[in-house]
Amino acid sequence: MQTRFAEAQLADPAIAASEKILRKCVHCGFCTATCPTYVLLGDELDSPRGRIYLIKEMLENDRPATAEVVRHVDRCLSCLACMTTCPSGVHYQHLIDHARAHVERTFRRPWSERWLRAALASVLPYPRRVRAALALAAVARPLAAVLPRSLRAMLELAPRRRAAAGAQRGTQAVAGARRARVALLTGCVQTVIAPEINAATVRLLERAGAEVIAVGGCCGALVHHLGRERQSHALAAALIERLHAELAGQGLDAIVVNSSGCGTQAKDYGYMFRNDDSLAAKAAAVSAKARDVTETLVELGLPSPVADAPRLTVAYHSACSMQHGQKLEQPPRALLASAGYAVKEIAEGHLCCGSAGTYNVLQPEIATRLRERKLDNIARTGAAVVATGNVGCMTQLALSYGTPVVHTVELLDWATGGPAPSGLESLRSTGVSSADPGVSRASR
Ligand code: SF4
Ligand code: SF4
Repeated sequence: MQTRFAEAQLADPAIAASEKILRKCVHCGFCTATCPTYVLLGDELDSPRGRIYLIKEMLENDRPATAEVVRHVDRCLSCLACMTTCPSGVHYQHLIDHARAHVERTFRRPWSERWLRAALASVLPYPRRVRAALALAAVARPLAAVLPRSLRAMLELAPRRRAAAGAQRGTQAVAGARRARVALLTGCVQTVIAPEINAATVRLLERAGAEVIAVGGCCGALVHHLGRERQSHALAAALIERLHAELAGQGLDAIVVNSSGCGTQAKDYGYMFRNDDSLAAKAAAVSAKARDVTETLVELGLPSPVADAPRLTVAYHSACSMQHGQKLEQPPRALLASAGYAVKEIAEGHLCCGSAGTYNVLQPEIATRLRERKLDNIARTGAAVVATGNVGCMTQLALSYGTPVVHTVELLDWATGGPAPSGLESLRSTGVSSADPGVSRASR
């Protein structure tokens, strides 16, 4: 694609990076076929190619974002399916990140949107505030019918079940011989709504011979996708400092992330801070060590399944950040199979479930259509349980009275000697299908 940026514009490193990305696009349109919003809405401006064109016009002319640009940029899920499909290597992720930051700086949204976005950004990255918001949600739930659509979407997504205990900050002792020392990024929302994921991760890693250092803090991804560059950089910088202190101290073999959205972000820190003299080297070092938990388990070797390991059929839902963001296809599937599960593929597996960070709150109509489509495809597998590696997808897909959804590490932990994931205790036997009323989400 030809571009017409002035020399003065290209002096801005963000513009220079986006110009390079734009020039790679050859307008072929292959990406449109796998873009969830184009598949649903059929509008070229809701396709990657259409958005690239809108972003190019906005940046090239150094214009504030218009309502039209904002509508189509906001509808993008940042699922990155377009990056997997693109034959020209267009780095759409960095381009849409730049566009979102530009929108945030130059466009004044209606007050209701501003309020909602500010509320999300001031609560979600901070576990104590998430806990308080959940307590409030429990009180407000009976009033859901009279609340605006966006607030109802938030209430629907707030988990109803009580969370089990999770990983504590600090070092967790390894039972056998130590083969690796890893940091576990314990996260923000996940640590409150599903602490059992961190607990299962720690047990698994220890069983595999790793000493686990739990490191808390938000990676910045949720607010990054809201275009709040300053806040996301501040959150990421604080986490990078903490992780780098461990790297530079006793050393780490890996920085383990068990939420693929956070993993995608952590692997991108090197790019995010490339122009920051004080943090560039540390950020690059952290990115170089960042691993999805399934990558680390493949490297360490999965502990042997126990004699009475569950033999279940598992539909594996590959989160967009896992398959498109991190390009990790095989590790989770291979681990589940070697733990004794029969892994089923979900049709249209490349399409987003509609979770996408805060997308299901901000764009509830599109998110709901994508969720229903995903749930139909899951139901067709006949699997007893769904496994995924991203807590956002778990929350989104759990809003059904269908197949239970758990994190991949919970199933791996169960098969190798850990407890059954909450609600799956009765499913140890072979051949239980989602048609069994005992598998109903209502029972969880
Ligand atoms: S990130 Fe996803 S929703 Fe956005 S343009 Fe690419 S494929 Fe479409
Ligand atoms: S597939 Fe790649 S090169 Fe082709 S239109 Fe989409 S982004 Fe551009």
